[in-house]
Amino acid sequence: MGNPKAFLTVPRKEAGYRPINDRIHDFGEVEQTLNTKDRQEQASRCMDCGVPFCHWACPLGNKDPEWNDALYRGEWEMAYKLLKKTNDFPEFTGRICPALCEKSCVLYLSEGAPVTNRENECAIAERAYQEGYVTIEHPVRNGKRVAVIGAGPAGLAAANQLNYMGYEVTVFDRNEAAGGLLRYGIPNFKLNKGVIDRRIHVMEQEGVHFEYGQDIDPTKLPAGFDAYVLATGTPQARDLNIPGRELKGVHLALELLSQQNRVLAGRTYSDDERVTAQGKHVLVIGGGDTGSDCIGTSHRQGALSVTQIEIMPKPPVGHNPATPWPNWPVVLKTTSSHEEGCTRRWNINTLEFIGKKGKLTGVKVQPIDWKPNPAGGRPIMVEAGPVEVIPADIVFLAMGFIKPQHPELPANVFVAGDAASGASLVVRAIASGRKTAAAVDAFLRKEN
Ligand SMILES: Cc1cc2nc3c(=O)[nH]c(=O)nc-3n(C[C@H](O)[C@H](O)[C@H](O)COP(=O)(O)OP(=O)(O)OC[C@H]3O[C@@H](n4cnc5c(N)ncnc54)[C@H](O)[C@@H]3O)c2cc1C
Ligand code: SF4
Repeated sequence: MGNPKAFLTVPRKEAGYRPINDRIHDFGEVEQTLNTKDRQEQASRCMDCGVPFCHWACPLGNKDPEWNDALYRGEWEMAYKLLKKTNDFPEFTGRICPALCEKSCVLYLSEGAPVTNRENECAIAERAYQEGYVTIEHPVRNGKRVAVIGAGPAGLAAANQLNYMGYEVTVFDRNEAAGGLLRYGIPNFKLNKGVIDRRIHVMEQEGVHFEYGQDIDPTKLPAGFDAYVLATGTPQARDLNIPGRELKGVHLALELLSQQNRVLAGRTYSDDERVTAQGKHVLVIGGGDTGSDCIGTSHRQGALSVTQIEIMPKPPVGHNPATPWPNWPVVLKTTSSHEEGCTRRWNINTLEFIGKKGKLTGVKVQPIDWKPNPAGGRPIMVEAGPVEVIPADIVFLAMGFIKPQHPELPANVFVAGDAASGASLVVRAIASGRKTAAAVDAFLRKEN
């Protein structure tokens, strides 16, 4: 702990976002960076608590106090070495992690101003690439082969760990490039895809093989491998099968998001295939992160207006007594995309998509309320206002994903990431990939 009084004298400082009128005209990353002096000062706020809750709350067990101290002292290479011990891809989590660590930082619990762990992590990772601290390792091979199905963060972390352990690893993915939802879900304005390419290049140089355009049937896994990791994510989005679902203009969120990311990567689509909010009134159904990404994407495509509705109540601002620590604080989240302009409504149920000549023109909705269920369990939904129509030319359904079911699998097949847990977070996917790699290793060693 470099400066024992910094937490009293240095206020939390975030790098903040690019100005709205600048950022909504492109898909460049919205988040800015602090200068080196400010970044090191931010790291100095870490109090090196006797029981570091941040380290416990991070699914990867990142050693925040240790690398914050190294960062404060300007020992960037040491900071990266400490970070790399627990996190294969700090450049991903440093950009898009909701920072579970910060929500359990003592400075959050006591004064609502945690150490800027996520931004610090990103700064360390970027400096590591700039200064050449990201070195290429050449693991000694142990003669065994592992196939990883799915090149999302879970599959990539499993592949990376197994490769370092000496296994010869091949990653198969049905997409044309690696990253999973990092590449074909999360918009470029949150995560530039060059950041993924840079890491994949390192992994390739270290010996991981990638095979794209391979849609693998989990019941007919490719032959010639000693073990398999299924990291196939949650491919099925939750749909809304109400009257009018077939109308032109009603889309699943990923139809918008993955296509936009592909367009930015150079792919072209016919006017008929193209999903765009340009010149349209947009309605996003679902109040979570995927919905927020639809909002930011719609702004950049030139939407006339954007409205987001959510069936659940509006969470409280700042503090929620219903979710005390160590629960995740369910509080109102206002993202960079919300800041760019959007009407947000809660407690709204969707009844019907309405249209003319097969094209969407609006959505019939109704305000509702939630009453406690006398029998316990999920609260009961009751009507709370008249039915109304929200005019809309295009709708994005952002209501989550269905947890996949897997058939009984042979002993040498392991499941990782969202495919195992249901839709979650990048940091949890990486943690699961690492854990799965350890399980594969233990299994293959026992077999010997
Ligand atoms: C729009 C959106 C925004 C998000 N934003 C955030 C965020 O800001 N922060 C955060 O922490 N989390 C975010 N998440 C969640 C996060 O992206 C996921 O939890 C994470 O990517 C899961 O990783 P995974 O590797 O398990 O699966 P995925 O990332 O889904 O990767 C699965 C991979 O498996 C491949 N695959 C599937 N089936 C097959 C098959 N049969 N054969 C071959 N390949 C196959 C797919 O092509 C894909 O590449 C977001 C999710 C979405 C949808
Ligand atoms: S990965 Fe996420 S939770 Fe873990 S230290 Fe980084 S920002 Fe915090």
